[in-house]
Parts: sequence; structure tokens; C-alpha cells
Amino acid sequence: MTVITRFAPSPTGMLHIGGARTALFNWCYAKKTGGKFLLRIEDTDKERSTKEAIEAIFRDLKWLGLDWDGDATVYQSARAARHAEVAHELVKRGRAYFCYCTPEELEAMKAEAQAKGEQPRYNRMWRDRNPSEAPAGVKPVIRIKAPIDGDTVIEDAVQGRVTVPNSQLDDFILLRSDGSPTYMHAVVVDDADMGITHVIRGDDHLNNAFRQKIIFDAMGWPVPVFGHVPLIHGADGAKLSKRHGAQSVGEFKDMGYLPEAVCNYLLRLGWSHGDDELFTKEQAAEWFDVNDINAGPSRLDMKKLDHVNTHYMRLADDTRLAEEVITRNSLKIDETHKARLLAGIHDLKSRAATLVQLTSEAKFYLVDEVAYDEKAAAALNDHDAHHAMHHIYDALARLGADFTETAIDTACRHIAEHVYAGKLAKVMMPLRAAICGTTTSPPLFKAMEILGQAEVMKRLKAALHWMHDHGHHHH
Ligand code: GLU
Repeated sequence: MTVITRFAPSPTGMLHIGGARTALFNWCYAKKTGGKFLLRIEDTDKERSTKEAIEAIFRDLKWLGLDWDGDATVYQSARAARHAEVAHELVKRGRAYFCYCTPEELEAMKAEAQAKGEQPRYNRMWRDRNPSEAPAGVKPVIRIKAPIDGDTVIEDAVQGRVTVPNSQLDDFILLRSDGSPTYMHAVVVDDADMGITHVIRGDDHLNNAFRQKIIFDAMGWPVPVFGHVPLIHGADGAKLSKRHGAQSVGEFKDMGYLPEAVCNYLLRLGWSHGDDELFTKEQAAEWFDVNDINAGPSRLDMKKLDHVNTHYMRLADDTRLAEEVITRNSLKIDETHKARLLAGIHDLKSRAATLVQLTSEAKFYLVDEVAYDEKAAAALNDHDAHHAMHHIYDALARLGADFTETAIDTACRHIAEHVYAGKLAKVMMPLRAAICGTTTSPPLFKAMEILGQAEVMKRLKAALHWMHDHGHHHH
């Protein structure tokens, strides 16, 4: 049997990280088994489905590197005629029936159930009634003939055996009076027609699974293996919601996480393979089994995600990271800036947890005028610093063609020894502030070599002017 999994998002909002994790699990399982991973857009709810959301699903799945099989994406809305056909087929087979209840009758049923303190449930009044008794002018719905006695049992690959007494399930609607399918029905028909063998999805769908199994059984279709994955919770243990901050894949992307880190982190969140923490999705696919998905809920931990992302930042290709930095900048970037950035990115990437941080720390390579942050300004607004800056300026101006990391290093150490009794910090603090506008940076002498003598001298001169304007210029 070829395994066929699917990801079936409803395009009603941005792709949630819980959805991305579901997609990853399905993708991994298909890869592991040499099967297929299909994509179905569940856009039956036309009011809530949007084109933007569909595009975001494609964009975010591609960003994560989750390629799906099949010649074309399945759109659930395009299959309404088939959904109706199956509902009518079930009527023909005596497994479903037309129900002519009026809204008033349904209201009365509800009120009666409520008066008895029971769940409102359809009382099956048309289940065995002859349609010839149908009132004129009422368009019927089609309802399933759900089993009355016994239990519906699901052997869930994640949750284990889950049982619901059939007395709790009613004859739910398959086809509305306007001929449109209910969501419950559409999912089953689509899964059957797509040959889905494994349904891995959020456990918010576990309740639907019982009803869906009844439809599969009624059609005599094989019931897929279900695996209901507990939802992702926030750090406080509550279900992930807006107040926890970022929830969508797009937001994580904007926050500067790499797709491979997001994949690794999400896979690890809710599934494990021994003590392994860092792995690619391809590696995970080799190890993956639905049974290894955790039955308990998982908590989003941004510190762990940062840790995972830091790992992938170090591994990432320099050119790729430089391009990310460039697109994340609003600065006007020319070829000189690009060359500097590319030369400097190696030292920068091992210091940054996210692309946002990398972008900010790379900024000094991309500006024509350095702006001093508060700490850098404080470092420059200092009598000793001004004094040191003159020494630095003169020494570096003399380096000429030998403007290398080593030569700069030697020159700066020389000043430190002769003027500041060996205290290199006296030189480094103002120098870093002048070159980077910050008090931390990647290895500074290397960065200066990359910037080149002309640019360095320009920045030192600008710092001297700034210091002059800010007062501490008396010797
Ligand atoms: N469309 C559903 C959702 O986005 C998923 C349905 C399913 O996986 O069966 O929650």
C-alpha cells in the first residue's frame, strides 16, 4: 500500500505554525514511506476563504521547503458536485435520507433538549419516514443514518483508542438544502477520492473524526489511519493565541528565523527521535513515525527557537545571508556596500541569533555615514577618547597600502602600549564607536580591513568632528 498523506488548510487566515507543523508531519511521513504528500485547499466556506490566504499557504509552504505531490492542488470548492453525488448515492443505498424539517421544528427540538438539560440533537424524525409525506415547498437536506447503538471507535495513531457512544452522535447533515456539502462530508469525500491513507492533523478535529468515520463506513470506503496531534500552547501553557505574539509562519519569517530552523524547531515540538535536537527535515523524514508524535501538548519556547536558529545561521551560506540582509534593509545599497557585506558576513553570522539581528549588526557595512548609538556616543564623548582618536588617525593614515588586519592590529597595540600603558581598551572603545557606531562588533580590525583605508579614515575624521562639536576637545 502506498502511503498518501495530505495537508488540508482552510484559507481563512495566515498559515499558523500549528498548521505548518501538521504539514511537516505529513510531509515527513510520506517521504519516510516513499509515499505521496498532497495539498488540498479547503475553501468550501466561501465567505471566510480569501485569495490572500491561499497565496500565503503556497508562499509559506514553499518557504519551508515543503513540496507537495500531485499534478494540481485540489480545491475543495471545485468538487461540490461530487460531494452532492456521494450524498445522493448514500440515500440510494439507504445510508442517508432526505430530511424536510422546517426551521421551526428544529428550533422546537433545540428548546426541548435544552429544557431537559441535554445537548440539542436532531430527533431523527425523517429517518424512517416516507418522503411522500414531505411537505410541499420544503427543500430537504440530506442526513446520514448514523448508528444508534454501540460505540464509534477510532484507533488513533497518536491518541490511542478513542471511543464515543453513538448515542452522542446524531444524524448530521451531509448536504444542505441548497445542495452544498457540509464541511464534514466534503472532507470525507475528498480524502476518499484522493486515496488518503493517513490523516495527520490537529486534535481539534478529533471530534470530527468520529462523524467522518461513519461516512467512510456508510460508503464502504476504507477508513484512513487518523493521527490527531495536540495543539501548540504558549509558554504559559494556554492555547496559543494572539496575546502570545507571533503565530503565523509569515511572522516568524519576518522575525528573522530561517526556514530550516523553523522546520527543525516545529518538528521537535511534538515529536522526538531520542535526544536529537538539531536535524534537517530530510533527516527527520528518515526517522519519522506517526506513533512517535507526542500525545501531550507542547509549548512554544522562543529561547529554544533562537538557539536552533543560531545553529542554522552559522551553517547558512554567506551569499544567501547577505541577500537576506540586503532585502531587509531600507538603505540604498551599491556594489561597494555589497562587496563589504559579503566579505564581513562570515564573522557577523556567528554572532546573530536571527536575520533581524544580523541585519542590524551588518548595518555599519552598508551606511555612508555612521550614526552613533547611545553607548557609542558616550564612549566618544570623552577626553581620553578624543586624545586616542588623534593618535589612531595619524597611525592609520601612515599605513598606506598595507591596510590589513595585521597592520591595523600592530598599529593599535603600539598606541595602547606607548600612550595608555598597554590598555588596549582605551584605543578599541572609541575606535569601534567611530567605525561601527556601536560598542560591540565583529572582530574590529578585520572589519576595518574590509571597509578599506579610505572609508576608515573618513569615519575617523567624522568622529573627530563629532568629538570636536561635543566639547571634549581640550588637551
Ligand atoms: N481544513 C481543516 C483546518 O484547516 C483541516 C481539516 C482536516 O485536516 O481534516 O483546520
